Amino acid sequence: MIKYNLKCNNKHEFESWFSDSKEFEKLSKKKLLECIFCNSKIIKKSIMSPRILNSNKNENRNPPELELKKLKKDLINLRKFVEKNFEFVGSNLANKVRDVYYDKKSNKNIYGSTSEKEREELKEEGIDLVSIPWIEKDN
Ligand SMILES: [Zn+2]
Repeated sequence: MIKYNLKCNNKHEFESWFSDSKEFEKLSKKKLLECIFCNSKIIKKSIMSPRILNSNKNENRNPPELELKKLKKDLINLRKFVEKNFEFVGSNLANKVRDVYYDKKSNKNIYGSTSEKEREELKEEGIDLVSIPWIEKDN
């Protein structure tokens, strides 16, 4: 199987799997490919080198051990920074965020958790939350 990143003439990008590169050419020629967003039939490959699904786990060396370690360290530092500089408000974050946002004098830093729905609602009000991966320190 080969995964291609595809792009339609309206610049929508999406991914699709093909059994091989010939299948893509065939479907493309017959205009059987369709943009999943706008149904445009003018589809191009957006990158030249396809990623190949490798079922051999032994060759799966990505991401390298070292990168993971470094990433984890960064995330732990990020967590420490947030814990030190932000006030924890738990799952009440959505309400607290509004308090801070609409109170112009307040510049409190807070953190906690929200549901997807709450996040969407806040976004509609112009409040963009940053979410960070929360990593366990002793893990
Ligand atoms: Zn499209």
